[in-house]
Amino acid sequence: MRILVVEDNPVNLELVMQLLEDDYQLLVARDGAEGLEMALRERPDLILLDLSLPKKSGWEVCQELQGHGIPMVALTAHAIKGDRERALEAGFHAYVTKPIDEDHLFETIEKFR
Ligand SMILES: [Mg+2]
Repeated sequence: MRILVVEDNPVNLELVMQLLEDDYQLLVARDGAEGLEMALRERPDLILLDLSLPKKSGWEVCQELQGHGIPMVALTAHAIKGDRERALEAGFHAYVTKPIDEDHLFETIEKFR
């Protein structure tokens, strides 16, 4: 299973990579524009998409990828009230809140296998 991780925060990115690199093939992008381009070029099986990103937000990337058949999981900051509900309305298929809970992350990813 190939997963594209789009995350600009180096600490969060490192954490996600450490958790997932043994079980999945990972592709990484550090801003929304790069993430969108990589998604279209590489056709990953799943995208983990931070919402707050430079160049293009996760919201914009999600909108532009509608109809491409790639499941998108939002990485949402728990502190931002309403983001989770908004993410599902915006077309994300699931969300994982930060700080990331390892079990929840794996459970969520495995739903799309
Ligand atoms: Mg961010």
